Amino acid sequence: MIKVDVIKCLGCFSCTNVCPNQNITREETPETRSIHWKKCKEECDLCVEFCPAKALTLVPFDQAGEEPTISFDLVACKICGARYATEPMLKRIESILPEKLQKDSTGLDWIWICPVCRRNIEAERATKQIVLGRTRKIP
Ligand code: SF4
Ligand code: SF4
Repeated sequence: MIKVDVIKCLGCFSCTNVCPNQNITREETPETRSIHWKKCKEECDLCVEFCPAKALTLVPFDQAGEEPTISFDLVACKICGARYATEPMLKRIESILPEKLQKDSTGLDWIWICPVCRRNIEAERATKQIVLGRTRKIP
């Protein structure tokens, strides 16, 4: 049986992705996500191995408590307001990434910006560079 340390869990969904027996289920709304662990007898260990936060441990089935559920509010993008990731996930990235990599060349704090806005900003910059390059070539 899997025991979950709810304090350590990041809400990343890795365990739900790797469980071959649908023992770990997930629910998502535009603003929240939750994970539910059913009692598991298979003990294949995949979820334990793939958890980046080391929040899961195997315990004997008869020592299993309640089936836990954890819910997270998703963090809103600082640009568009769309909710895109859990706060523990973003704080974890912030804690392991060197500070100089947390901002881009313009000082944009990209960890707290959703992937869609990041892509749009990058595309806009790339377009400006291309236009600038072509303008310079015109005699
Ligand atoms: S031990 Fe294996 S079967 Fe059980 S919850 Fe984890 S991944 Fe799923
Ligand atoms: S893999 Fe670990 S951190 Fe990610 S949701 Fe599962 S228990 Fe939480």
